[in-house]
Amino acid sequence: MAQAWFSSPLIQGGATLVAVLMLSSLLEAPFTLYRTFRIEARFGFNNMTFKLYLVDALKGLLIGAVLGLPLLFGVLWLMESMGDYWWLYVWGAWVTFNLLILFIYPSYIAPLFNKFTPLQDDAMKARIAALLTRCGFTSSGLFVMDGSKRSAHGNAYFTGFGKTKRIVFFDTLLARLSGNEIEAVLAHELGHFKHRHVMKRIAMTFAMSLLFLWLLAALMQTSWFYQGLGVTTPSTALALLLFFMVMPVFSFLLSPILSAYSRKHEFEADAYAARQTAADDLVNALVKLYQDNAATLTPDPLYSRFYDSHPPAAVRIANLQAL
Ligand SMILES: [Zn+2]
Repeated sequence: MAQAWFSSPLIQGGATLVAVLMLSSLLEAPFTLYRTFRIEARFGFNNMTFKLYLVDALKGLLIGAVLGLPLLFGVLWLMESMGDYWWLYVWGAWVTFNLLILFIYPSYIAPLFNKFTPLQDDAMKARIAALLTRCGFTSSGLFVMDGSKRSAHGNAYFTGFGKTKRIVFFDTLLARLSGNEIEAVLAHELGHFKHRHVMKRIAMTFAMSLLFLWLLAALMQTSWFYQGLGVTTPSTALALLLFFMVMPVFSFLLSPILSAYSRKHEFEADAYAARQTAADDLVNALVKLYQDNAATLTPDPLYSRFYDSHPPAAVRIANLQAL
């Protein structure tokens, strides 16, 4: 019985992929550790203890197992059982899975890593309420997240859909910025929302995953895909593995386009913020945030065009001052 179970190609293939994934995250660990405990610590941004790092890693592993394993085996099963159009079925499963994560993340996953408490500061609450009304935005709550337990970097974001949208502020953002600056940062985020940037980005990611799956299906039909990568006994799991290995080549080619798209969104959100609040407040907030995030104020222009999802601070500031 156990033998039959272990000799199933689905189980074998899935187990191989899990082993490779675990191995690659183990190989990545020294780099993450170095980044967190050396580089970030040197600039004074790291608040993470080694114990917290281990607890986070363990939680990540458990969540990965609970959510990732069914997905992985589901995908392998669909690839083997659905004939020529398996890539359409896998895409459907992938889209469903991602939408599910999007829905459960704020209430079930994020609280496993951070504490969220309702914003207490009444003066701040009144200012934000006024800004939200001005922008025609309804939210079901303002929350503060204890981001400071890991790092000194500050941020603000939205989660949830429709009327259940929440606004989350990192405690570090509230501590570093003035009331006007916080309002400006929030107005920038509202700009992303008004321009439907999140929806556009989700739609684009789904379209790209459809393209990649179709590409994988086409590659699996060719013999050179396996031979070129040294595989003598092709299997579904190996095809998936090889694809993950060559995927960075395709995403590398796409990254300048995606970065340009994302930078366009940043400019649109900045322009929105400048209409709803004072542009100077956002400029001051940006200077503080970029300092806090230790991003160089003047990166190499070519590197920046290729990789950066956000325009360099100096460019954003010049743009805001021109508005
Ligand atoms: Zn933005």
